[in-house]
This record gives sequence, structure tokens and C-alpha cells, in this order.
Amino acid sequence: MKYISTRNSQKKFSFEEIFFKGLADDGGLFIPEYFYKLNEKEILNLKEMSFQEISHFIFLKYSRDTFESDELYEIINKAYKNFRCKNIINVNKHNNINLVQLFHGPTLAFKDVAMQVLGQMYKSLLNKNKRKITIITATSGDTGAAAINAFKDNENINIFVLHPNNKISDVQRKLMTTTKSKNIFNIAIEGNFDDCQKLVKEMFVDVSFSKKINMSGVNSINWGRIVAQTTYYFYVYSKFVKDKNELIFSVPTGNFGDIYAGHVAKKMGLPINKLIVATNQNNILERCLNTGKYKPEKVNESLSPSMDIQVSSNFERVLYDYYKKDEKKINELMKNLKDKGEFTIDENVLKNIRKDFDATSCSDDEICKIIKDFYNINKIVIDPHTATALKILNNENYNKKELYVLETAHHCKFPNAIKKALNINTKLPDFIDFTDAKENFDVLDNEINIVKDHILSSISC
Ligand SMILES: *Cc1c(COP(=O)(O)O)cnc(C)c1O
Repeated sequence: MKYISTRNSQKKFSFEEIFFKGLADDGGLFIPEYFYKLNEKEILNLKEMSFQEISHFIFLKYSRDTFESDELYEIINKAYKNFRCKNIINVNKHNNINLVQLFHGPTLAFKDVAMQVLGQMYKSLLNKNKRKITIITATSGDTGAAAINAFKDNENINIFVLHPNNKISDVQRKLMTTTKSKNIFNIAIEGNFDDCQKLVKEMFVDVSFSKKINMSGVNSINWGRIVAQTTYYFYVYSKFVKDKNELIFSVPTGNFGDIYAGHVAKKMGLPINKLIVATNQNNILERCLNTGKYKPEKVNESLSPSMDIQVSSNFERVLYDYYKKDEKKINELMKNLKDKGEFTIDENVLKNIRKDFDATSCSDDEICKIIKDFYNINKIVIDPHTATALKILNNENYNKKELYVLETAHHCKFPNAIKKALNINTKLPDFIDFTDAKENFDVLDNEINIVKDHILSSISC
């Protein structure tokens, strides 16, 4: 299996190359030359497999040129050692709503499911190659903590995490900034998540800078994360789904990583009918699916901060598929986005996207109401991101159907939202204790040269 960029199919890369690079030099996203298609027997076999075995099975299809089967098995088993749930994920059914709990990892959000695998892959590859790298990543709150937990105390890695200053929850920030490890550098940028993501992309495409520091990326554009996230779509299907004819996933969406994994699972043969793109008030994707126009607007802070995003990077991969690998067209759309601040999807393409995806948006008031209603009926507190994925129940096409809702974080990470919705104070679980923990981070202006200088001087000392 070779990989190409969404903007250039001429250059081919190995799994190892795209794993370390994250983003292509041409600004495009890496994708496999084709999606491995499971046959019926292989899909049936998933029933007998554990979460780790499914993950191994799928990863092997995409990384055989880089990992031996045994090696990969060890990587995946180590990755899931620290999960608090034996089966890694769990599904709880409440009437027609099936909550897919993805937050049993060390930092209480679904990001751990993929990031722990990446942590072990980096460890193995860097030891083998005797390389040292610098990981730089932007976070809307949860990626950073997951990455720090996965990469701490690795002497072959320095990791810099850029978060938007004062725009993530205290719990999210403390999970990052109180981790004691010499290889971790937290930076709070005076800006929003899109600013952080833009800084990281600029550093990537500045080849002299990124080469100098051996830069690598673990944002949700990293193909390894996508593959890891396909696992739970397969797992849910094979273990929990009764009616195989009508499989609908509703997915809280920001950078389109988690839901894109669902799209990949579908391409690989999983019979998914619809993927619901659930957004908060930052609803660029809903607007785009309704009108065809992709136009980032100002990011508004919401009760679901991990989705406060207007530039949804992984969407480029979907466009590539629905434009049937027409890289010229992708280059044109992305040039329009850069030069004019928007692009428009052709009508026939949009029609096909809409066959597979539906979209909703959810205001803060609606998030509170959904959390409250769900609590009143089921006595269960859901987190504000997960709440956005229940908005689709207002739609009469969906309100009686079995719905698989990705529960992307534990509610205790967002005490302010829960207080607002339910007027109760949430407690952190016992395994998290911030008393006496000292926070470590630098606040920097949203200015590329300041950030670069900071990174260079931090590494050299
Ligand atoms: C990151 C995140 C999302 C959005 O996931 P994407 O892959 O960026 O679409 C949703 N909910 C939570 C809790 C998150 O941390």
C-alpha cells in the first residue's frame, strides 16, 4: 500500500514516511492509493475478535511495509494497557440511542484511542531508526492532553502543544500543563484554535524550518489516527448492531477526523447508511452541506470547545473521494479557499455527499437542553460535545431510528457546561488529582516568527 497527497498523486510514499510527515509538503493530506475492501467473510470474522485484534487487522492492511505483524500486535497491546475498560470501548443503550463510550483512556476523551497507538508506533520506529523528532501540534483542548500522555518521557521526542489561550476548559488545560516531563512544552497562543492550526501548518510547509527540527505532526490529519479510529466503527458494528440494514452514526465534529474514519470504514465495506455531521454553533460543515459553499467565518466560543473550529482540515480528503480523485479540482478549490476565503462544491458532487452525510448544528442553549433532557430521562450526564450529536433526534427522519452516538468525552472535563445545564458540580474521578500540581506553559502572540524562535530556543537549551 502506497500513499499519495490529495494535491499530487505522482509522488508515492510509504506508511512510515507519511506517518512522520503528517501533512504533505504541498499542503495536501495523505491518503492511501486505494481503500482496502473487506470481503463478507472478513467482516463476519470481526465478531470473534477483540478491539485490539480488529485494530491490528486493519492497521496491518495499511502499514505492512513498515511493521511486521508481531511488532504491530505488541504496539497495539501496549497502547491499550492504560484503558480503564477491558474492552476499550463500551456501548450503552438508552431506548433508540446507543452511546458509544470512547473516553476510557488516560485523558478522558476519544483522542486517546488513536493517540496511544501513535505513541507506541513512534517509540518503536524512533528506536529502530535512532532518530529524534519534534512533534508540534495544535489542540482545541483534547488532542493536546492525549498527545502529552502518549509521548511523555520519550527521550527521542520533544513535543510542543499550541492551545488557544483562555479558550479551553481548566480541566483540559491542567491535563496538559501539569504533566511533569522534560520533553513537553505547552504554548498558549493569543488566538483561537484555527490560529493555532494555521501556525502549525505554516511551520510544516516551511521546509527549512521543519527539516531543521525534524518536525512531525499528530493532528487529526495524521493518517495513523484515522486508521486507529476506524476500529470502533467496525467494533460497534460487529458486537452491538442488531439491525444491519440501517446503521447510522452521529458524530460530534470539528476537524472532521473522527467522522472521516467512519467514511473510511464505509469505503472498506462496512454497511453504514448515514454519517451525521454534528456541529456546534461553529457550523461551517452544516452550512457547506446545505449550500455547497465552504466559507470559514469567525470562530465563536461555545460550551463544546473541542469543536470550536471553522477550518475543518480532513474535509479535503472527503472532497477528494467525491471528486473521484480529481486532484486538479482539489488544488483549484483549495486555491480559492486561500485566495478568496471560500470555495463552492459542484452540485452533482454535493448531491452525492448528501447521500452519505447529513448535518446538524447545535447552539449552547440547545446543548444545555439536550444534556438536561437526557439526564431527566436516563439519569446519565453526557458531555457537551456528545450532546450536539443528539440534536438530530429533532429531525423526524431520524427520531425513531436506532442511532449510534459517539460519546467523545467524559463530562467531568467540562464542569462549567454541566453546571450551566444541570446546576450540579461535577467531581473529577479519583485517578485525576490536580491539588498541588504546578502548571507549566508560555503565553505567546499569534505570530509565526515568535513561535518559531520560541521552539528553536527551547530545543537548543
Ligand atoms: C476533538 C473532539 C471532537 C471533534 O473531533 P474531530 O475529529 O476534530 O472532528 C469532538 N468531541 C471531543 C470531545 C473532542 O475532543
